[in-house]
Amino acid sequence: MIPRRDNGPLPPGATIGILGGGQLARMLAQAASRIGLNCHVYAPDSGSCAFDVVKRATVAPYSDQDALSRFAKECDVITYEFENVPSQTANFLSQRRPVLPDPRVLATTQDRLIEKEFVETLEIATAPYAAVIDASQLFEAVRKVGLPAILKTRRFGYDGKGQHKIDAGGDPATAWRAVNGAPCILEGFVPFEREISVVVARGRDGSLQSFDVTENEHRDHILKVSRVPASIPANVAAEAVRIAESIATAFDYVGVLAVEMFVVRHGTTQHVLVNEVAPRVHNSGHWTIDGCSVSQFEQHIRAIAGWPLAVPVRLGRVEMVNLIGAEAADYGRWLTVPGAALHLYGKGEPVPGRKMGHVTRVQAD
Ligand code: AMP
Repeated sequence: MIPRRDNGPLPPGATIGILGGGQLARMLAQAASRIGLNCHVYAPDSGSCAFDVVKRATVAPYSDQDALSRFAKECDVITYEFENVPSQTANFLSQRRPVLPDPRVLATTQDRLIEKEFVETLEIATAPYAAVIDASQLFEAVRKVGLPAILKTRRFGYDGKGQHKIDAGGDPATAWRAVNGAPCILEGFVPFEREISVVVARGRDGSLQSFDVTENEHRDHILKVSRVPASIPANVAAEAVRIAESIATAFDYVGVLAVEMFVVRHGTTQHVLVNEVAPRVHNSGHWTIDGCSVSQFEQHIRAIAGWPLAVPVRLGRVEMVNLIGAEAADYGRWLTVPGAALHLYGKGEPVPGRKMGHVTRVQAD
């Protein structure tokens, strides 16, 4: 551990702790090593793909206080690659070392209802929603929100997990049975024109740098393709960036944050609704590794290390395609595609629905 002077920037050679050992931690560690910082990854699964690229690793449950204490002692600052870090773990660590972004952000983003209420306090639009804790409240929520709608569990949902659509004329009771009584929100189904996201970095000094707005295409609820720039008018892009930056500022956030949004049309004008806030680097920002002068991963490391943020300069029109499950077996073909940058996450045997890698292509604007 290198002692921090006056809470100032970490010097090269300092150690960043990362909770979680998936591809996001792996790419954070790769970015950190490029600028002379070391990473120590803490994850419960010994097969975590981030372990392949780091100097130090801890394999232990998130509840193991001895392991967490040792980990904290060896790190100068601690961050995380996923939003479902148990609050006890985050609080335990933050009593010992700076944890960035501040774990208080997790209490908001781990719960869809609290997150939506928070976004609304900033006078930012979301899909219409209502809280649901029992079957009778679901019927009330259907009256308020209308159908079609999506019943979403408040916690632990990602990539469409914990989501059940109720079609117009459909039976809400079937969706309620599917969530097994978990606290939910009912969200009006948004007839969006496009899905977009903004990845924004906020430094320790409050400075902000947003990457260009990304347009996202999902398949089976999993991100499949991201394209930059998004095909939206400049005023809509500016509104999307303003929304992401005001959320980051309201959280007093340090690090990279992603905001997923829907673009909806009312007559001749388009508007933006917030779908979800991710307090971490995000799949829709992977294009920045090959398509921008600085990646989202380096921006996150810079922010939490107290370094100045870079001003991102996009290198052209960029397309990022996720390799999901068996698609990664096709890597040999991508190796021969001119201009294609292949990333494989080292996850071993492909599992259906699992993100195994991605490919980025950059073309002159
Ligand atoms: P989420 O886990 O909330 O990000 O949802 C995953 C995907 O489901 C989104 O990227 C959308 O494609 C779709 N989706 C989620 N919520 C809605 C909604 N209220 N209306 C329409 N599509 C939605």
